[in-house]
Amino acid sequence: MADTHQLGDLGVNGMRLRESLEEMAGIGATSGGGVQRLALSDEDRRARDLLVDWLEELELEVTVDAMGNIFGRRAGCEDDLAPVMSGSHLDSQPRGGRFDGALGVLGMLEVMRTLRDHQVETRRPVVIVDWTNEEGSRFSPAMVASGVWAGALDLQWAYDRSDIDGKRLGEELERIGYRGDAPCKNFPVHAYYEYHIEQGPHLEREGKVIGAPQGIVCLQWYDVYLKGEANQVGPTPMEGRHDALCAAAEMILEVEALPRKMGGDLVATVGEIQNQPNSRNIIPGEVHFTVDIRSWEDDLVRRAWGVLERELLALAERRGCPVEIEETWSVGRSSFDPKLVQRVLGTADALDHPNLKMVSGAGHDASYVNQVCPSAMIFVPSIGGRSHVEVEQTRWQDCQAGANVLLHCVLESATEGRASASRSSNSRERDRR
Ligand SMILES: [Zn+2]
Repeated sequence: MADTHQLGDLGVNGMRLRESLEEMAGIGATSGGGVQRLALSDEDRRARDLLVDWLEELELEVTVDAMGNIFGRRAGCEDDLAPVMSGSHLDSQPRGGRFDGALGVLGMLEVMRTLRDHQVETRRPVVIVDWTNEEGSRFSPAMVASGVWAGALDLQWAYDRSDIDGKRLGEELERIGYRGDAPCKNFPVHAYYEYHIEQGPHLEREGKVIGAPQGIVCLQWYDVYLKGEANQVGPTPMEGRHDALCAAAEMILEVEALPRKMGGDLVATVGEIQNQPNSRNIIPGEVHFTVDIRSWEDDLVRRAWGVLERELLALAERRGCPVEIEETWSVGRSSFDPKLVQRVLGTADALDHPNLKMVSGAGHDASYVNQVCPSAMIFVPSIGGRSHVEVEQTRWQDCQAGANVLLHCVLESATEGRASASRSSNSRERDRR
């Protein structure tokens, strides 16, 4: 077998990819043209069943692990070598889009089908994966199953996450029949690629078709709990009030002002708020809101939080509303494998797709996978930069272009023997015996 893969005219079937995406989008379809497939819901089960049917049609070796991650393995000529893996997720946000996650799973499915159609033999085995609960909108946090797989999160802790109705993740996995027998534990992977929509405006603005993120920004989540003094709105004069919602309003504007103060690529958002008792004739007595801060620079996020925390404490003091702040989640910046990032860009060049090296502002399963094996991502443009909403769209020809880049990146990695493995993968690789 050759040591380098020649690009040739091998290409995916764009129409078949589109049909698979459309069939998948029928599961949990919403009236506004999006999908709602919350993790471990009945819709998620149906999406998984369809995927497993498709994997079995290809005669892949299908495994489901203890977190419900689904793997489909295609044997290689040197089958004891660590596989090349690619995939994403089939769960969605509430009233989310049809491309987020699904494109990465079905793009890799299309790669597998193309390999079968052309009877391509690869040196290394090739694996497709569907990660459980990437979105984290039903069970927080996000990317929990790739986190357990990578050894960063504990399995029992993940099982105990519960949704708004108190249903536990572990029980819901069992209920939909996807609590698998295989241990949820990382195995040696030679290279991991995740194909995904950009979910931002950069590629479209720059007129590019393919993006290769050099990594994923660091992310910090905080929960802010404010206490005010609830009272009847009519008889209580304005002076001397402790209105928790007014305190929150000032704080939220401080969060918005933070990136301007700090500079760089920082973004800061309050996306969720609960007001108690939420009645028009009671002064708000308790408010909870979330803060999400992201940047490519870990240090900038840390400094920004320091500044914001001081402001929030001062505001709480001034308004007489005691505040409690919890750091809920923290993920360091994840730099992808430079060799694989370069391969994505080089492959896009070779296929004549204008491309851009960038940074991913959104978290992905690839950030956890990247902790245990060399990883990279392939982005295609989101029309209008919109994502996590029903109008999320990507042009069909871009879906095909990204799948072709994935195909050739997978083939290139699957051709590599032990000697040509990248330095980072070499040191991590313990081939299966
Ligand atoms: Zn996604």
